[in-house]
Amino acid sequence: MYDLHDIVEMKKPHACGANSWEIIRMGADIKVKCQGCGTS
Ligand SMILES: [Zn+2]
Repeated sequence: MYDLHDIVEMKKPHACGANSWEIIRMGADIKVKCQGCGTS
């Protein structure tokens, strides 16, 4: 399981080339923020 503010990797990297994401919201759907460019 993931926790809020964990850094996770996705199967596909973001368009900016980074592949680490911070979990910024938990719940029914999880939201993540790209650590490369800051896009959520
Ligand atoms: Zn990005």
